[in-house]
Amino acid sequence: MENNVKTTLKTEGFAFKKRLGQNFITDKNLLASIVEASGVQPSDVVVEIGCGAGTLTRAISERAKKVIGFEIDGSLKPVLSKTLDGVENAEIIFKDFLKADLAALEKSIGKFSVVANLPYYVTTPLITKILDESTLCESLTVMVQEEVAERFCAIPATPDYGAITAVIALRASAKILKRVPREMFTPRPNVDSAVVKLTIEDGRIPVADASLYKKVVHAAFASRRKTLENNLVRAFDMPREEAEALLISCKIDLKARGETLSPMKFAELADALRSRNAES
Ligand code: SAM
Repeated sequence: MENNVKTTLKTEGFAFKKRLGQNFITDKNLLASIVEASGVQPSDVVVEIGCGAGTLTRAISERAKKVIGFEIDGSLKPVLSKTLDGVENAEIIFKDFLKADLAALEKSIGKFSVVANLPYYVTTPLITKILDESTLCESLTVMVQEEVAERFCAIPATPDYGAITAVIALRASAKILKRVPREMFTPRPNVDSAVVKLTIEDGRIPVADASLYKKVVHAAFASRRKTLENNLVRAFDMPREEAEALLISCKIDLKARGETLSPMKFAELADALRSRNAES
């Protein structure tokens, strides 16, 4: 850990909280490489989730127009006021990002990107909140657990492919930019990490009703051992013959499992289900 940050954490009596996913990064080259890989431009506004000791915040501030950082842990206030001393374009909001009003935030900042070393205990809720609620987010470059990054980018019919892959695919393309070994964090976690970039491309998977798409995806993965047909019957309380007719209309094998369907196919299935609902 860089000495000045380490000293500040010590002199402020900061105690790392495992339950808040507090594994900090201080290697300046790594921090700069994350911001560079994010593609952030000097005119961009960046939202950071979880500022910690402000090391990534500072690295972002050197390349972006403005950084809005969210930090849940108020005990980091005195640390951040020292480590971010002199950084004019960073604003820290001490709040749980999951409770943030994104519509209000977007009204005040306009288009933005997310760059963050996420707390791993809430990775999925944080990302789904942005994908569900944001209309102006352009990309998310986030450090996550390596296995989670693999899931975000997985292809159909592989063990890593799951509901989160298909939910992300609806709005964003996903790409692993960098693998980061556990030794780069303080304290050292028990897992390796990866930086993954989700680039929002609305309309990449055309579907009439996004929330029905998500319901179909969650139904399909509710029980991985069951066939898609069985999962649909259960989740939508649907007569078996109707589930079969639906699958046949989408040219899906009646014995298929959810994990074999591409996001495009899930969209086709959601649209067919929507038409069926409209008719009945
Ligand atoms: N950005 C810093 C770095 O790279 O060194 C810290 C990253 S650390 C993995 C995650 C940070 O997120 C911690 O400082 C933690 O307190 C904060 N955090 C945890 N849950 C949060 C939440 N729901 N909203 C905002 N911040 C949160």
